Amino acid sequence: MITLDGEQIEVVDAHSHMGSRNKLAVHQIPRIMKFTAEDMMASMDGAGVDKVVTFAIGAGEPVDYRDTNNYIASSMEKYPDRIIGFMRLNPAKGPKDTLKVLEEGVKLGLKGIKIHPLIEKCPANDKENVYPLMEAAQHHGLPVLFHCGLGEDASPKRIAEVAKDFPKLSVILGHSGVIEGVRDAVDAAKKHENLSMDSSAVGWLPFFCETISWAGVDRVMYGSDHPFNPMEWEVAKIVKHAQKHLKLQIEDLRKIMGGNLKRLLGIS
Ligand SMILES: [Zn+2]
Repeated sequence: MITLDGEQIEVVDAHSHMGSRNKLAVHQIPRIMKFTAEDMMASMDGAGVDKVVTFAIGAGEPVDYRDTNNYIASSMEKYPDRIIGFMRLNPAKGPKDTLKVLEEGVKLGLKGIKIHPLIEKCPANDKENVYPLMEAAQHHGLPVLFHCGLGEDASPKRIAEVAKDFPKLSVILGHSGVIEGVRDAVDAAKKHENLSMDSSAVGWLPFFCETISWAGVDRVMYGSDHPFNPMEWEVAKIVKHAQKHLKLQIEDLRKIMGGNLKRLLGIS
C-alpha cells in the first residue's frame, strides 16, 4: 500500500522480471544475471508494492524459458499473496514445441503469457509462430503481455493486429510503446477494447499523461519493469508527477495502480 493525501492505495505491478540467465539481452546496464523471489519481496516492501506480475528475465541466447517458468511457478507457490506468475514464451522455437511449454505453464498454474518480439526475433503478429499460441491463450483465458516499442517487430500496430484477430484475448502493450510508439499505442487502445497498456518505461512525462487522458483511466496499468527500473521511480511517475498535471480522482488512481490489472486477471 502507498498513502496519498491520507488515502491508501493498493499497488499491483503489471510488469516485472525474475529468474536467471547466462547472457545479457537488450539492456547492458544494469548487468543483472539473476533476480530471485526474495530480491523481489525486498524491492516490493521498499516501494509499497502489494502484488506483482512477474515473468522470466530475457535471455541473450535462444531458450524456451521452461526452467524460469518453473522457478516463477514455485515462487508463486511460496508467496501466493504477492506473486502472480506469467509464463514467458519464445515463439521463434516454433509452434509445436512452444505450445508444449504453454500447456506446461497452464498446468503450473501460471496466469498469463509474456512475449518479447525483439529478444526472441519474432514479429508480434507472425501468423505461423505467434498465432497458434494466441489461439491457445484465448482458449485458456490467459492475458498476453507483449513488449511494445523500440523496434518494428514489437510495434503497437503489429500488436494491435493480434488484438483485432483475437477479440476475446486480453492483450497488454508492455511499456505502451516506450516513447516513439506511445501515440500509436493510444490509437490502438482506443480502437480495440481488449487492448490495454502498462506504464513501465514510458520515459517522457507528456506522452505518459496522454496515455491516461486520451485512452482513459481504465486502459492504463502501473508497471515497473523491475529490476531494470526502480519500483519507487515508476510509482512516483504516476502518483506524484503525472498526478500533478492530471489531478485524477483517488478512485481513478486506484484503477491505474492495481484495480484495472486485478479486473483483467479476475482476482480480488
Ligand atoms: Zn520487461
